Amino acid sequence: MSTADNFIPFARPDIGEAEIDAVARAMRSGWVTTGPETRAFEQEFAAYLGGGLHAIAVNSATAGLHLALEAVGVGLGDEVIAPTLTFTATVEVARYLGADAVLVDSDPATLNIDASRIEAAITPRTKAILPVHYGGLACDMSRIHDIARRHGLHVVEDAAHALPATSEGVLIGQLPSAATVFSFYANKTMTTGEGGMVVTKDQALADRMKVMRLHGISRDAFDRFSSKTPSWYYEIVAPGFKYNMTDMAGALGRVQLQRLPDFVQRRQQLAGRYLAELQDLPLILPAQAPAGQTHAWHLFVLRLSDDAKATRDEVIQGLSDAGVATSVHYVPLHRQPYWRDRYALLPEQFPVAEKAYQRMFSIPLFTAMSDDEQSRIIAALKAVVR
Ligand SMILES: *Cc1c(COP(=O)(O)O)cnc(C)c1O
Repeated sequence: MSTADNFIPFARPDIGEAEIDAVARAMRSGWVTTGPETRAFEQEFAAYLGGGLHAIAVNSATAGLHLALEAVGVGLGDEVIAPTLTFTATVEVARYLGADAVLVDSDPATLNIDASRIEAAITPRTKAILPVHYGGLACDMSRIHDIARRHGLHVVEDAAHALPATSEGVLIGQLPSAATVFSFYANKTMTTGEGGMVVTKDQALADRMKVMRLHGISRDAFDRFSSKTPSWYYEIVAPGFKYNMTDMAGALGRVQLQRLPDFVQRRQQLAGRYLAELQDLPLILPAQAPAGQTHAWHLFVLRLSDDAKATRDEVIQGLSDAGVATSVHYVPLHRQPYWRDRYALLPEQFPVAEKAYQRMFSIPLFTAMSDDEQSRIIAALKAVVR
């Protein structure tokens, strides 16, 4: 049995004194809502991705996905195409707009959306494709962009796991998608507590998202007609949302972004050791990025192979008994009551995601993990996976 003291959580945020100082600085500045820290964070984030981008800080990736779909014009009766093996946030935002989700099965090797099944899911109502870089491994983006171009669809990337990841040498965020959305939720590759960032190369989309992020307020409407806009004047041009980031979160994000290169290195080191030491167990190890490409290693998802004797639930229980937390990414959306019932979905329609789901579990992978903790996780796996 484990004691609470040596229990290894599934994730633990890596927040140090520099972050605490930065948040305190924001709090002492007298400006706690969106302000100089958030604006600097946006600029630094865009620069981290190589520049040439508009970066729009929001209070969650879910908010960012909503803004992006709204900005590209997804609306009532439209459809968006997304993987079934994702978090509900990817597609719930389509429902906010009165649109529907068309779910697609997974690629058996990567567990990303199976790009070869996307075209069959396109209908006259399809407006956008929402690839999710599962676990931090980029989707087959050249194929997805090719399909989108041929069918006149927008691509909005759910990059909640993909900071940073590359696709054919290009950082996620720099591809020719309408928008790309990152998450700074507590367990992501960097955190602002809650928060997210939308990036786009399209000025008009950026302008729309900025207006909709804050109540549909436009401060430039007047500027077009007069250079003497009084500072108190604003116009409401749409029923917008309240999705802006606080300056405490922005200050926290700036420090986390500075530490991101170290975080990436540590995640790669931890993932590399798992890959090396778990090879001989009856497990399907997570797919690696092609040579020279970056995997963000947000998640480390294992699947029991066909010859494994233990079940997924036995392994999860055994790890828990050994003091190691796990998770499952994800209960596929086609199994979730809301999505299943709305679209009358059956497991047989998603054989790859379904089989993966039955055999998958995610083990802890976080930068604040010690080498000793990782040794314990590996030892526990060797004891329970048969
Ligand atoms: C975490 C996550 C989100 C949502 O991010 P929030 O910042 O919590 O809104 C969306 N999609 C995926 C795939 C995620 O893992």
